[in-house]
Amino acid sequence: MKLDDRKFLTATEKEILEGQVTDVYFQHTLQILKAKGLENVIVHAEISANSLPDGYRWAVLCGLREVVNLLEGRKLTFRAYPEGSIFKTHDENGHLIPIAVVEGPYSEFCILETPLLGLMCQASGVATKAARIKKLAGDKIVASFGIRRMHPAIAPMISYAAFIGGCDFESCVLSANLLGETPRGTMPHSLLIIFKALTGKEENGWKAFDEVIDPSVKRICLCDTFEDERFSALKAAKTLGKKLFAVRFDTPKSRRGSMREIIKETLWELKVAGYDHVGIFVSGGVNEETVKELRDLVIGFGVGTSISNAPTIDFAMDITAVKVNGKWIPISKRGKLPGIKKVYRCNECLADIVVPADEKPPKCPYCNMEMTEAHVTYIENGKKIAEIPSPQEIRRKVLENIRKVPL
Ligand SMILES: [Zn+2]
Repeated sequence: MKLDDRKFLTATEKEILEGQVTDVYFQHTLQILKAKGLENVIVHAEISANSLPDGYRWAVLCGLREVVNLLEGRKLTFRAYPEGSIFKTHDENGHLIPIAVVEGPYSEFCILETPLLGLMCQASGVATKAARIKKLAGDKIVASFGIRRMHPAIAPMISYAAFIGGCDFESCVLSANLLGETPRGTMPHSLLIIFKALTGKEENGWKAFDEVIDPSVKRICLCDTFEDERFSALKAAKTLGKKLFAVRFDTPKSRRGSMREIIKETLWELKVAGYDHVGIFVSGGVNEETVKELRDLVIGFGVGTSISNAPTIDFAMDITAVKVNGKWIPISKRGKLPGIKKVYRCNECLADIVVPADEKPPKCPYCNMEMTEAHVTYIENGKKIAEIPSPQEIRRKVLENIRKVPL
């Protein structure tokens, strides 16, 4: 196996499923268990996150769609909060919450810990950032534009996580097709540079877009390529008239004074010229701060790296019980709670309580309602027994739940 044997430096599905994308100490552990006849030792392992990036109060769980495929067919049981759940790291009593649980012979899954965590950590990070930005943007459009900054092999994963986190549109063609969505975008600077170079006018680029592209695609003209946003926007409005849905500002950093002032001035200009139907769409370095600053003025945001390169949710997997002579022995490393637990949730308040597995379900400390078991069993004895809902269904639930929690 040589580096130059592959065009792209990605692992194949087969290599991931076989556990080749693993840390070598897991391979060593497997080797030792087998050599000592311990490959049938059954363990209970919990996946949890001790903290969240940047002091977030909650995160969105994502990646289970792939994790279930990774674990299916192995002699183990896998339970977790449902895909797209809003979760916290600790329960109402300050106990670390098991977000997911794997149970079975350790030899069945130890080499899969690395890919399993990788699938959950990155996707949850992206979904969480998308959800934060969508919560801040409210009913304004949030378009996912960030795959160009990431390895193309993982574009579908990033787009899926961004979409279930609440992004409204996906620009990546393959990703949108996989999601069952229509890919949406505007126009690049390159199109306008070519028309300006050949015809002397960027208007001809906007016109060409309007002439060639299917009328179902909204006309959003990029208006920052050669001149001031305000005058370029007016030119676009004059060129496309009623057909112009919005103008996009992707202003380079070196030209930005106050985007808020530029947008206010442009909206005024468009209004007095009779084009108050034209909205403004902002892209380029959009993050949580930008959304807060501009959300009252614009129709939407194209968000790139702040979502696609979101900080990961640092999940870890830890054994908390080992079966010895048919009996579970609670045992864990320092810093983790030993034993087998159940996680209960109040679906109204999204409050969670962790209790030892044999205790009865608690009542919600806030609304006194019955709490329900938070985990879904996705895999039992290697068989997939629960389906992950459609991305649209998960996204709908995420949007409903992020309204209930403050940022
Ligand atoms: Zn409650």
